[in-house]
Amino acid sequence: MLMTKCERHILKYAHDLYSHGQTIGRIYQLFISHLSNTISSPTLWKAYYTILVDGLVFGPLLRKDQRIYKDTCEYILSYGAKYCLNPSLTCEFSFSTSVRVKSVALLINIVKMELQNLISKSSSPKIAGEVTNHLWQNILKTTKENSRYYGNSHVHRLKQRAMQSLLLLELCLNEEQCQHLMNLLCDSLQIESHQPSVKYFQEWLLVRILAHHPKLRQTMWDEFQKAGVKRPGCMSSFISVIFHLSRALPHEELEKFIGKGIEFIHPWCMAQQFIVRLFAQVVLQKLWETILTKNFEKLLSRFKVVFDSVNSSLNQGGNTQRNLLKLKESFYFEIFHPMDHFSLETIFYDIPRLGNVSNDEWIPTSEFECLELHSVIQLKNESEALRQSNAGDWAVKSAAACKIESMPTDGDETLNIQKKIMPWKIDDLEEASLFPEAVERGKQLGRRSRKSGGLVVVASLVDRMPNLGGLCRTCEAFGVSEFVLGSLKYTEDPQFQNLSVSAERWISISEVKPYMLGSYLASMKEKGFSLVGAEQTSGSIKLDTFQFPEKTLLVLGNEKGGIPADILPLMDVCVEVPQEGLIRSLNVHVTGAIFIWEYVRQNNTR
Ligand code: SAH
Repeated sequence: MLMTKCERHILKYAHDLYSHGQTIGRIYQLFISHLSNTISSPTLWKAYYTILVDGLVFGPLLRKDQRIYKDTCEYILSYGAKYCLNPSLTCEFSFSTSVRVKSVALLINIVKMELQNLISKSSSPKIAGEVTNHLWQNILKTTKENSRYYGNSHVHRLKQRAMQSLLLLELCLNEEQCQHLMNLLCDSLQIESHQPSVKYFQEWLLVRILAHHPKLRQTMWDEFQKAGVKRPGCMSSFISVIFHLSRALPHEELEKFIGKGIEFIHPWCMAQQFIVRLFAQVVLQKLWETILTKNFEKLLSRFKVVFDSVNSSLNQGGNTQRNLLKLKESFYFEIFHPMDHFSLETIFYDIPRLGNVSNDEWIPTSEFECLELHSVIQLKNESEALRQSNAGDWAVKSAAACKIESMPTDGDETLNIQKKIMPWKIDDLEEASLFPEAVERGKQLGRRSRKSGGLVVVASLVDRMPNLGGLCRTCEAFGVSEFVLGSLKYTEDPQFQNLSVSAERWISISEVKPYMLGSYLASMKEKGFSLVGAEQTSGSIKLDTFQFPEKTLLVLGNEKGGIPADILPLMDVCVEVPQEGLIRSLNVHVTGAIFIWEYVRQNNTR
């Protein structure tokens, strides 16, 4: 009686401290540390599982100024006490990770206890079951049917953190609990288009559940089939699950499983949805490789014709084959192993990193080194392969592809709607928007005859991705003949892509590193280009009185420093947009857009 009263008070305080912890992270960190020291036996956590769940998903979303403050503190602290002017420097915003690490430590203790109980059959995993349900409630709270959430948003982070904990809990859940979790996962993959990291985690958990419970493997085919009928777009997830499960199963079961898997997958190789088709084709090829290496003779003869026909249509080259290779060689299909890579490193560091989640969500293994893992899970992966993998552009692309799939197709034609211009008519939207061959075709079809020579826009000095992405879009829209960047890698940056809306695929882009700019300008001058600097200088000509030569190379300055003193003398002329307001200069993209428009206007009327 006394105990339950106590518990109630503790829970109330915990709730209050949790709310305060949203602004002063240290409070919740202290609370969790004290609580975990005081309540040492995992059995006693039965009453406090809600506190534990709050800790597992803890971490408010920081505002930009808080992020800057946090990064600066961490940077100073990274030099160690020797260089730190204020030895007591701490950062309020750095505590989220340590709250989560502490909570993971508790969770591992609980999992260990439940595993022991399971072995001695003394009780069913009750606490683990409660924590699982509560974590899933957290996921559901943020779930809205048919809607999507943004990458790195609070919703994204909450879902990801909950999934990370569920992967640990699965170790000690019984079959019934796993069956329930499996149904929830199937629903979740069906109704929401997840961010890549959440998708990886949900698929991984599903694979582990199915690998550990043979009985559930019998019902999975029907579940997957139903999901495909409800929302075909989600099949890429279930097809991935089939592939990864094939890697986790014992040899005796493999032949039968792959046979069933190919039967299930091969119709999807011709699915309407590009992304589903691609996943099905990749997995078919992967399974075929296993059939060959394991020399499953029955399957060889049974499916050879299927494999050959899919393969011969894929071997025609072009975009499909290129994308197939890209996906096939991605870390997810080439390196990741659902059993061998079951480690804190993969869950808390690699998957967030490879899923393109911002790096404040990656928890390095050093943070977990002090935990007692009781052989529940390994800290690091034995092989380096995953550590050395790159996210590449697949995680970004797959998210983009999901958007295509969910674009509304039926609209009310009587409504007055915005006119969306198709630069040229394309038969296959997916093909056109995703891949470069379509660019070539588009160029051949030509929406305007570009003048050879024309305008070259050099943005090698520009640093910020939104400016570069925006400039790229403007250059594309006005038919600039060449857009020059400081690095071609920038085009892969999500912030660049957000603004460029795929314009980078439609224009010619080249790379000139800032330190090469001088020699590049000299070579362009030799080719007959007039070098025009957009800059406010003592000798600038006003844009409204300037006549652009046809072969113009426009140099834009850096956001902060403008065009540096050693480049200015190389310009034939500096031109400025006359300003009247108080602000000293314009944004560089805005400047570029005004210049490009003026160039186009003059050239079209000549
Ligand atoms: N030189 C500026 C900052 C650069 S603004 C300063 O020290 O305050 C970034 C870039 O935008 C400039 O280098 C220039 O290329 C362009 N820009 C901004 N305002 C401009 C204007 N009024 N005319 C021409 N270029 C301008």
